[in-house]
Amino acid sequence: MFKRVLIANRGEIAVRIIRACRELGIETVAVYSTADSESMHTEIADIKICIGPPQVTKSYLNISNIISAAKITKSDAIHPGYGFLAENSLFAKECEKNEIIFIGPGYELMDIAGNKSMAIEVMKKNKIPVIPGYDKGLDDPGFAVRTARKIGYPVIIKASFGGGGKGMRIAADDKDIKTLLPLAKSEAKNAFGNDHVYLEKYILHPRHIEFQIIADNHGNVFSPGLRECSIQRRHQKVIEEAPPVNISRKTVELMEATVLKAAKVLNYQNLGTFEFLLDSKENFYFIEINTRLQVEHPVTEMTTGIDLVKEQIKISSGNDISDIRKNYFSVKTNPDRQRASGHAIEFRINAEDPENDFMPSPGKIDYIHLPGGPGVRFDTFIQCGSTILPYYDSLIGKLIIWGRDRNESLNRALGALKEFKIEGIKTTIPFHLKILGNKNFNEGNFSTSFISDENIL
Ligand code: ADP
Repeated sequence: MFKRVLIANRGEIAVRIIRACRELGIETVAVYSTADSESMHTEIADIKICIGPPQVTKSYLNISNIISAAKITKSDAIHPGYGFLAENSLFAKECEKNEIIFIGPGYELMDIAGNKSMAIEVMKKNKIPVIPGYDKGLDDPGFAVRTARKIGYPVIIKASFGGGGKGMRIAADDKDIKTLLPLAKSEAKNAFGNDHVYLEKYILHPRHIEFQIIADNHGNVFSPGLRECSIQRRHQKVIEEAPPVNISRKTVELMEATVLKAAKVLNYQNLGTFEFLLDSKENFYFIEINTRLQVEHPVTEMTTGIDLVKEQIKISSGNDISDIRKNYFSVKTNPDRQRASGHAIEFRINAEDPENDFMPSPGKIDYIHLPGGPGVRFDTFIQCGSTILPYYDSLIGKLIIWGRDRNESLNRALGALKEFKIEGIKTTIPFHLKILGNKNFNEGNFSTSFISDENIL
């Protein structure tokens, strides 16, 4: 096992990883920008080291500063969390060059997954269903129009190296393609450093369903279940659940077989998520692989009892997962192939003002009262007196609720969100309460366009 792990991240995920290391008896190193010198992750780690000024390019994205911090502190491994450098294969390569273990899959795999159109090609070759589209690069608008017509409108233009729901454009006709293609390309170039885009049929009212996988370096791989991530705002997840509602066992089994086949083909190691869109007839289509811990990993933890972060760290240090795999399958008496115990739901609490177009709401937290009780978990880095900084993303915590079934967890969630009090900044709590008050949401009757369809603002 590692002696010391550096966490190349901040916020709630840095705190989450430090706690997992602590349980494993591993010393932790927190890195921080000058703006974050008093942030919770720096207080609870064994060692803290400054890696630069507030701007992310100069601190949390600064590969050479982070590698130097790991060397100075004699860290054996780096956990990247999610976001920042978590999917940067160059960073993983630099870690290897410096004999530091990168906690994640190998960089060859990150290279495939990081280029979405390449990942789609690999899936297609292995007969895994993908969305009809064109992924070989689109430079000429005339060619793009002919291709879009062949696919059939509406189509979606997506950045091959994109992420976080950014840079996607929906085109309803030839005119849209001509105007949106150059925009999408320049946006992709600015945001992701590469202007490669591809076209996909735009699926109307799909659900976003994803599979968590765990794989070790010894050829063992299994899935501890799937998650529903259809409640989205501007293609970004807002609420996630495990297991999904209203999905047939047959589809779950088929999807799982597909995922495990893909993981084997790719010789996948460590944690990963295979994302799919599911249409109203339960046809499913691969969209992408995330080669890292997901923001929404706790809903899987709450329904399986597996600590995904601890397992991830153990796998990177060479552990064999056959035991947890065996226990996972043998202790379950539930014949349901979804294998989930109970139901969990996660609400992303952001420092944003839902009444003002979700404008970021940085500032000092003057007062906070956290909800509690059975089945209530809050992963965060904030406390009374904390300052939410304008330089970083607005996620201040994740409220994760577990119940014996979906009704119980939704009911518990309603109580917890009502009890939750934060003063000094605006948050998305009122927005979540509106969703919880929606009949279709409660009945499990929704798709990725739920928020706009139901006009929840
Ligand atoms: P990112 O990596 O930026 O999150 P994804 O490819 O995972 O991008 O897609 C994010 C979301 O965008 C999906 O969950 C879905 O809501 C929407 N989306 C992406 N592709 C399509 C598509 N072809 N048809 C309909 N919706 C799509």
